[in-house]
Amino acid sequence: MKARVHGLTDVGRRRENNQDQLLVDEQRDVYAIADGMGGHAAGEVASSIAIQALAETIKDASEEEANQFLVDAFQEGNRRICESVLARGEWRGMGTTIVALVRRDDRVIIGHVGDSRSYVLRDGALVQLTDDHSWVAEQVRMGLLTNEEAHKHPMRNIVTRAMGNRVELEVDVSEQPIQPGDVFLLCSDGLNSMLGDEQISEILSCHQADPVEACRALIDAANEHGGDDNITVIVLATANSD
Ligand code: CA
Repeated sequence: MKARVHGLTDVGRRRENNQDQLLVDEQRDVYAIADGMGGHAAGEVASSIAIQALAETIKDASEEEANQFLVDAFQEGNRRICESVLARGEWRGMGTTIVALVRRDDRVIIGHVGDSRSYVLRDGALVQLTDDHSWVAEQVRMGLLTNEEAHKHPMRNIVTRAMGNRVELEVDVSEQPIQPGDVFLLCSDGLNSMLGDEQISEILSCHQADPVEACRALIDAANEHGGDDNITVIVLATANSD
């Protein structure tokens, strides 16, 4: 099944540095976004290590074992970040989210840690494929906050799972069959904190034939709504059946 893909990152309107990193490897059909956190440029270090570990692990992975290689790549990234923290005191507290998508024939495998997200636009409806590992998302899942309350909550930036926080890393991996015309989106929270699902859905629908345009439009819209954080998006549009 053919697909067109594009990725784009932007510092946003309020931050001086971009701590997001992305990987677009069309040859191996692996795509990822990492959103780093930590002062003294440590956030950039953490997200770079995570993406680097993924890129290196891909090279040795066989075609069949995509699920396991994502877990292995995330564990490797986590191990390297923890080691770097031990080596340099000023990097203490650094960490990163990661969301990765691997395409294999007629399915995608998605792995994530933290609050970077994956969505699919399918038959005109936007569906979130990842559950945020964040404090507000946990409150929503327990029925203690509504989505609207979570969106504005002062603790909305608290991530409950990230690479670099502890030696043991729990990774969520899921699989999705691809339906013709599916448009997959990966993003850092700089997108979905500025735009609601409806706005994201509208932009993706409008530009689903052109991932380059879709990425540009998503980032422009997030910036128009404030651009409070770094914004990174990857759009993968699969071909229609006809
Ligand atoms: Ca962010």
